[in-house]
Amino acid sequence: MEYEPVIGLEVHAELNTQSKMFCSCPVVDNTQAEPNVAVCPVCCGLPGVLPVANRQAVEMSIKVGLALDCRINHTSIFARKNYFYPDLPKGYQISQFEYPLASQGKLLIHTSEGQRTIRITRAHIEEDAGKLTHIDRGDGQDYSLVDLNRAGVPLLEIVSEPDMHSAEEAKAYGVALRAILKTLGVNTGDMEKGVIRFEANISVRPKGSDKLGTRVEVKNLNSFRAMERAILYQIDDQIKKIERGEKIIQETVGWDENSGCTYSMRSKEEAHDYRYFPEPDLPPLVVEEKWVAEIKATLPELPQARAERFVKEYLLTPADANILVEELPVAEFFEAAVKAASDTPARTVALWISGEIFAWMKQTNGGFEHIRITPQGLADLLKTISGGQINQNTAKNVLVKMLETGKSPSEIIQAGGLQQISDSDAIIQMIRKTLEDNPNEVSNYLAGKETLANWFFGQVMRQAGGKANPQVVRAELERQLAGLKK
Ligand code: ADP
Ligand code: MG
Ligand code: ZN
Repeated sequence: MEYEPVIGLEVHAELNTQSKMFCSCPVVDNTQAEPNVAVCPVCCGLPGVLPVANRQAVEMSIKVGLALDCRINHTSIFARKNYFYPDLPKGYQISQFEYPLASQGKLLIHTSEGQRTIRITRAHIEEDAGKLTHIDRGDGQDYSLVDLNRAGVPLLEIVSEPDMHSAEEAKAYGVALRAILKTLGVNTGDMEKGVIRFEANISVRPKGSDKLGTRVEVKNLNSFRAMERAILYQIDDQIKKIERGEKIIQETVGWDENSGCTYSMRSKEEAHDYRYFPEPDLPPLVVEEKWVAEIKATLPELPQARAERFVKEYLLTPADANILVEELPVAEFFEAAVKAASDTPARTVALWISGEIFAWMKQTNGGFEHIRITPQGLADLLKTISGGQINQNTAKNVLVKMLETGKSPSEIIQAGGLQQISDSDAIIQMIRKTLEDNPNEVSNYLAGKETLANWFFGQVMRQAGGKANPQVVRAELERQLAGLKK
């Protein structure tokens, strides 16, 4: 039987406000700050304190809601979600339950199969919990440290409909959502720092069925790769179970990066009953239409719109355009480089960025903010190719040096003596020498082994240290070989 996976995602995004959701403590970078330096009686949950909602967090949430085409609800209600955990000093988390801030939106995603629209169920505001560090002493006396810097940091939870059907679609959804959050400036997108966390709900059903199967929820996925792997694992595991005649049980699982498996955390029977009730210390959150309109007017160009513009204005393919709009700095770099490189087609500029520069970033594990090349620098490099100073292959090496050192292409070309040899006399000599040095290959070629032409080409380029102008070499080689045939 053929099966269809069904996936719905819950995404928690921290909002990078100045202060926390319900108190005036600053939001600090947890990878930098000392533990418990940004705490107060409100976020520590001491008795008798009163929370006050953070206007900037609400504004950021409205931005996201609008960018996701959601309805922004005039009145939403904060609710207490009750549970006990050592990182949650109040014994409850303030969230929104029946009445979220935003609902019924949608997000366009791009996969190898084309574009699809994923419906968004809701986006609601809540507060983050603190962080536990488990110390393994190895003598049975393990203990945990509590850091409340993160407790009370505003979170936006964005929940999708179960509209995705593959790990690739789930990743595309994550990528598109992250691009929006970054473009709006409400989240840094630093997944390694945990500022965006994914939970994937996965079920499978017979292909063609429109009934939903029983879902398994995978908690706290911190990278796109982890999410993809966990989804693929679950799809495979669920299909195998069904084929064996087993029932899927609704459960919450965790993802183990090392073993590449999910492990059970709790089943439906053990599911928390959070006993939600309206937060008595906070009034309903009322958002006036006028405020929403004002925020709407300030929205920047969103990734989707920008990609469409790139296709129209610069004649990129949708796939090329979408790669460039995932990160705002990349999109801005591209446009600036196109402007600076007036004699190079925009598509070529795009491919150098998404090909060579991205490959280098991947290799060095560095983010785009760390690259040491300016748009003008890339434009200058491309000019050296179109001007015949260096060839494509040399340019790729020059680019790597530019990325490593921050030097200009002309400096690197000068210092390395990399100028292209276009002088046909020099090339004629090199070809002559190559043919003289390889009499066996020449006779094989003349006996009909035409593919040796490419081999000769390679030999000449090698003699030239890769610096010869390939067009000139090809033309001259053809001429000399034709001469031998006579
Ligand atoms: P909970 O807090 O219980 O996880 P939510 O409503 O917050 O509930 O989130 C449920 C998520 O699970 C949504 O993203 C939804 O699309 C998805 N979902 C619900 N049913 C299924 C199913 N049968 N298969 C896959 N995903 C599902
Ligand atoms: Mg859930
Ligand atoms: Zn505080």
